[in-house]
Amino acid sequence: MTPLYYEEPLYRPPSEAGSLLIQATVGCSWAHCTYCISSVAGRFALRPLADIQADLAEARRLYGPQVAKIFLLAQNALVMPPADLLQISAAAHELFPGLQQISLYAHPLDLLHKTPAELRALDAAGMSLLYVGLESGHDEVLRRVKKHSTAEKSIRACRRALDAGLRLSCTVIIGLGGKELTRVHARDTGRMISAISPHYLGCLTLMPYPGSELDRGVARGTFKALSTREVLEEYCLLLENIGPLERPCIFRANHASNYLSLAGDLPADRDRLMQQIAAAQSHPETLRPETWRAL
Ligand code: SF4
Repeated sequence: MTPLYYEEPLYRPPSEAGSLLIQATVGCSWAHCTYCISSVAGRFALRPLADIQADLAEARRLYGPQVAKIFLLAQNALVMPPADLLQISAAAHELFPGLQQISLYAHPLDLLHKTPAELRALDAAGMSLLYVGLESGHDEVLRRVKKHSTAEKSIRACRRALDAGLRLSCTVIIGLGGKELTRVHARDTGRMISAISPHYLGCLTLMPYPGSELDRGVARGTFKALSTREVLEEYCLLLENIGPLERPCIFRANHASNYLSLAGDLPADRDRLMQQIAAAQSHPETLRPETWRAL
């Protein structure tokens, strides 16, 4: 048997823990965000379609036909040409008849580079859940971290995906504006989430990758990272600024980078989440210790 191909660095969302992981791309096609491992390690490549199809066939031999979920690695597999993604989806559904979901990461610009018709075709083919790293809704934060997007572009990209029928899981990063921009980062990120109304919202807490530009900025003192207390305050500000939503949003801050694990539905559970944050502010000893945090 040929083992499935995997090339570091590899990341998948926590909710994809039970999914078959298939490497469609390697690394990130952008690779400039100042806090990210992709800016300092690895390379970017599109894998040949034939190799991806061979991995799917091998997975069928290894695991049988009962695979229910597939996650396409790596950091923005949606950058692939739509025709290739459709062929991957077709091959996966043929090999795994009970397949319920294919999901992948996307940069907002990957969405804007696809037409509404192409996105509708991906949804119809069962490639129906996208994880989009938005990180912030404040343009100055996005500019400083070199995200290569703006709030307007992120909103337009996500609305295009939603209009095509795709489900969206969006991620934002608490602390990305540092002390200087914490309030505007939280305010505009909340407003951006209201304008998008994703199905899922995930929060990470900033942990610059060692050796990255932002990590060096922290060491030099040019970027002032939030204290734990300020992180909790930013959570509250973010939740306060998420206004009316078009659909219920499943909210999770259960990533290992977070000091506090939060889970609920927005807007229904907003007050309970705020109370949980307030309780943690009163009892900081209940927070995840710094040494237990991880990416
Ligand atoms: S944060 Fe995302 S888009 Fe930015 S370099 Fe890392 S993987 Fe690429």
